[in-house]
Amino acid sequence: MKRLTLGIKKSNFHKATLITTTSTRGDKPMQAEITQPSEVRKGKYLAALLKVASRCNLNCDYCYVYQHKDQSWENQPKLMAKGTVQKFAERLKEYVLKNEVTSFDVIFHGGEPLLYTAENLVKTVQLIEETVAPFCQLNFSLQTNGTLLTDEVIDNLFTANISISMSLDGPQNANHHRVDHKGENSFNEAFSGLDKLIATDSDLFKGVIAVVDPKVSPKDLFQFFDPLNLPRLDFLLPDSTHLNPPVGRNRDKGLYTNWLLEAFELWFKDYPHIPIRWFDSILASRVGIPSQTDVMGFGDVSLLVVETDGSYTDHDVFKITKPNGASLDGSVFSNSFDKLSDHAVIKEHSYRLSIEGVAEECKKCPVLDACGGGSVPHRYHPERGLDAPTVYCQEIYQVIAKATKLLRESLKIDVEANYSYAVPKGETLVLKANEWAEETLMRARRIADSKKYHAEGVTPAAVLLRAMSTNIVDFDFTREESEPLNWLGSIYLQSNEKWLVEPFKESISVLDRESEPFKYGQANLKKVENYLNHFNPTVLESMRILISDLLFVRSTIENESGIFSFSDDTAPNAIYIAPTVNQVPIPAEDIGDSILHEYLHQVLYHMGREGDFLFDHSFPRFSAPWREGLRSSGGFLHGTFVFTHLALYWEALSDSPFEEIDRTKAENNAKKFKKQAMYGLNSLYHFALLTERGEALIEALAEKLDIQDYKYIEAPGKDLKVEL
Ligand code: SF4
Repeated sequence: MKRLTLGIKKSNFHKATLITTTSTRGDKPMQAEITQPSEVRKGKYLAALLKVASRCNLNCDYCYVYQHKDQSWENQPKLMAKGTVQKFAERLKEYVLKNEVTSFDVIFHGGEPLLYTAENLVKTVQLIEETVAPFCQLNFSLQTNGTLLTDEVIDNLFTANISISMSLDGPQNANHHRVDHKGENSFNEAFSGLDKLIATDSDLFKGVIAVVDPKVSPKDLFQFFDPLNLPRLDFLLPDSTHLNPPVGRNRDKGLYTNWLLEAFELWFKDYPHIPIRWFDSILASRVGIPSQTDVMGFGDVSLLVVETDGSYTDHDVFKITKPNGASLDGSVFSNSFDKLSDHAVIKEHSYRLSIEGVAEECKKCPVLDACGGGSVPHRYHPERGLDAPTVYCQEIYQVIAKATKLLRESLKIDVEANYSYAVPKGETLVLKANEWAEETLMRARRIADSKKYHAEGVTPAAVLLRAMSTNIVDFDFTREESEPLNWLGSIYLQSNEKWLVEPFKESISVLDRESEPFKYGQANLKKVENYLNHFNPTVLESMRILISDLLFVRSTIENESGIFSFSDDTAPNAIYIAPTVNQVPIPAEDIGDSILHEYLHQVLYHMGREGDFLFDHSFPRFSAPWREGLRSSGGFLHGTFVFTHLALYWEALSDSPFEEIDRTKAENNAKKFKKQAMYGLNSLYHFALLTERGEALIEALAEKLDIQDYKYIEAPGKDLKVEL
């Protein structure tokens, strides 16, 4: 049995990468329950879009207000009346006071809001401020096509602290969608406005929004925008749905994908100083920074829209889905903002921005965390409503893969490629097991010496767990009084060392040695030994060397069902196995699966200590077919590593001399784990921040499973068909 012994070797502490691997397994499907939309709207409104003018002096061909299904603008007054502004201000005051909102954005929009005139916008600001500013900080902004910007207009707006963002798609040839009512390109007038804004050098100029036209090369766009030194440039994909797919994509499937890949790479390599929010968000998603744009990511409905007549609508772009697609009941004259939160349209919108509300394809997608299923209106499908992946699924998927690749390559420059192997095999595995066991002993010994623990005969994991503990009551180590038990001649079985359990008591409780479940587990260990020996004698031998403690436990996690086992990198070389599920014994081959599973986690912890497989262990996060919710990259890598080997274990059992083995179950398990491993390998290969060592690991695992096609990439929600 491995207890503290002398044995000094150089240790290297790896950075804090606590990866808890409580695992609940079995054949139950891991599909997220759909929560009802009525339960999910929790956020507050933090901004209102005030449509002070319902008409526009331009007639852009992609405009969601005038060119899509919804034509409700025709019934709106041309300009917002003063009485409507006053009522809006009162509603806003009522809302911020009741909901304790301390900062609120008011965005002037249209149509073209400058048709309302700068003078009236300034008066509107004054009116709203008089009513609301004593209770809440207000931030005013304007979204304009720029054609009506003069020096005087800009001066008036900036003096009233109204910030300005402009829409312009690029140089003259890129701006051909933005035409006036005679069909003339609006570039000259708009650029003149932009020029004036830039000349002010004011912080109140916030940047430019450009809608992508794949006919215009990314290079032309960057060459145009770069010298302008814009405070921000936002690229938007043209508003589309599955009913009205992006223009030109039916003829060329890769039209938008290729454009985006080229643009992203060019930006990443040559123009990274241009702050493009969407691209920045994609990169940030790799390291866990929430998305700054509603093209991607989860969130809540925080913006409400007030039409020119004072009526409420949801986000304007819902107008692309169907007639009155954005309509809500009532107006500032009849309803408070609070009432809107209860509206079915807002609830559905809010639900669709949550992880439960995305389409089934998205729940199985490795980039769900970053993409969030895409912009909600872009998901609209005539049969599925908003329960579909975005119509830009393929484009987003591919551009995230490209971003991951570029980021990974750029990180490599700064990192020493310090690895000699990825997956120890055969004799190496046994040698490594010896090395890892000894390193753990040495580490525990050093800690015991420094903390003056009386730890003679105590297992290393117990020493390390006690050293990490913040328990107020610092228990002594427990001494064995009864006859020690072991498995394989060296693995300590069912220790009564309380430090092996104390830190995990929320999850596990150790079975009494006299209990039936313990006796059942112990009695089956001989069979497990035979199965593991048949699977791979080297694995069994290295397990004997590496694993110090095997404890039979039961789960104390509420609602835990299915096969349960546990290990943690804070308790190196100790594994915890439940031999029963709800008091029902599990077959010996499943006990073998659990022991192998946790041993593999321990192997990967040790391999990771010798050199990282990932640049970041927490992000990106992955949806996984074996567990609900999103897994950290570290946990996802562990799952993939484990399932690769479990696939081989069950394959070996399906072709074994053991008569008691259910062949069909073994074959099915082998297939299931292989499928999960393939999903994991593919996802990690394209979307994780793998180091070179990580890439070598993925390749070695794929080789073990004899799979070549893990490098193939296809978005789960690609090619969604519309039956008309
Ligand atoms: S399936 Fe498509 S839309 Fe859904 S999360 Fe993945 S990339 Fe986004």
